Amino acid sequence: MNQHTQSANHLHGALREPSALRACVTETVFRTRVFDMHTHLFAPQFGALNLWGIDELLTYHYLIAELMRAENIAPRKFFALSKGEQADLVWHTLFIERAPLSEATRGIIRALTALDLNPRAKDLREARAFFANQKAEDFLNRVFEIACVSGVVMTNDPLDAAEAGVWNDGGEFDSRFHAALRMDRLLNGWREAVPHIKAQGFSVQEDLSAGALAETRRFLDAWIERMKPLYLAVSLPDTFAFPEDSARSKLISEVVLPACREHDKPLAMMIGVRRRVNPELQLAGDALGRADITAVTNLCAAYPDNRFLVTMLARENQHELCVAARKFGNLMPFGCWWFLNNPSIISEVTRERFELLGASFIPQHSDARVLDQLIYKWEHSRRVIADALYESFKCLMDNGWFATPKEIEQEVTRLFSGNFRQWVGLETKARGGGSLSPDSDGRSAREFEFEITDLKQQQRTKIQD
Ligand SMILES: [Zn+2]
Repeated sequence: MNQHTQSANHLHGALREPSALRACVTETVFRTRVFDMHTHLFAPQFGALNLWGIDELLTYHYLIAELMRAENIAPRKFFALSKGEQADLVWHTLFIERAPLSEATRGIIRALTALDLNPRAKDLREARAFFANQKAEDFLNRVFEIACVSGVVMTNDPLDAAEAGVWNDGGEFDSRFHAALRMDRLLNGWREAVPHIKAQGFSVQEDLSAGALAETRRFLDAWIERMKPLYLAVSLPDTFAFPEDSARSKLISEVVLPACREHDKPLAMMIGVRRRVNPELQLAGDALGRADITAVTNLCAAYPDNRFLVTMLARENQHELCVAARKFGNLMPFGCWWFLNNPSIISEVTRERFELLGASFIPQHSDARVLDQLIYKWEHSRRVIADALYESFKCLMDNGWFATPKEIEQEVTRLFSGNFRQWVGLETKARGGGSLSPDSDGRSAREFEFEITDLKQQQRTKIQD
């Protein structure tokens, strides 16, 4: 043993045994509170939008897709049933007639057992009685406690009539819930969005003239003021390209990104969804496709003063997203989204990210639509993240570097809340696009500034490695 390894061994509190290291990493991962940076949950003040309970859990679109494989029922017949009847059918088909082996069904089992409910119940009477006896606020506290979550970010659509009441009343709601301004309708269906934006008093037109762009910006400014979102967000198809000759591209470059810069907000892009592959299945009918990472790198390069949060839906895009993040300090990869939110894939993606990015990413978000889902989604993800983090520290141990519990806690906190809080400006000053990217060899990201029209030529000369 050389003298450096000896001194490391004597570092106060350093963990020298694999078993002690594993115990410490697991314990730290399970007790560190998560700031859940993307969900579809709503604070109780949003009324009927705040979903919880067994009927909501069982009619989650992930389970509806699985039901359709198991049960010979026409989708339109299924959707004509009441919510309770739908839940009964899902329970009978996926939980009684079969072992609930899939991630989505196993998740229900974990939510039930965590709440001391019988996962082998023949019907839903016990579960319904339990939820009927809960007070919304108390149940919310209990779920946050079990899931060890400190805060969640909602998905807020400025064109949604159901949300409008809360926003028009001044947007007062539980402070553990935070807003994210979702722009899907604006950016993915401009023509259909126009009358809705007009109805709110902004004189936009389909034709994106300078006046229409200015009015769209005024619309965004007004909603940023009203919602105080942590970030602006959009989900994008696998065919997403930037730049391109489209309303979306024009709106992103001339309205969204300037608004993000002025209000100091990141833009979250969730890329790779193929909507309505089977429209009969409604929400359960969306699928995925491999996207082109060039759209992301073009944006990061052309807009160094913007910060981007990016998640991609195809497994095949994960490695190149890590590599892109090594090139651009203004790019933060996040989460294992939707069809990636399964232990085998989280395991692979998280290991890949540790190897390429250290702890400079956001490993997971829950995407929960039903409050109770926080319980299993976070427990399942924590288990896989703990394994991946342990292996990274174990490799360091094999190389003669012994972590202390404090160092482990610091990295876990970074992963579960710090990176996100910093990125959205909740903690210290958020990193700007002008900071050095890890591979930049001393070049600042600002050196990547150039006109979009010159993108391809410039890329060949400036982006190396
Ligand atoms: Zn989502």
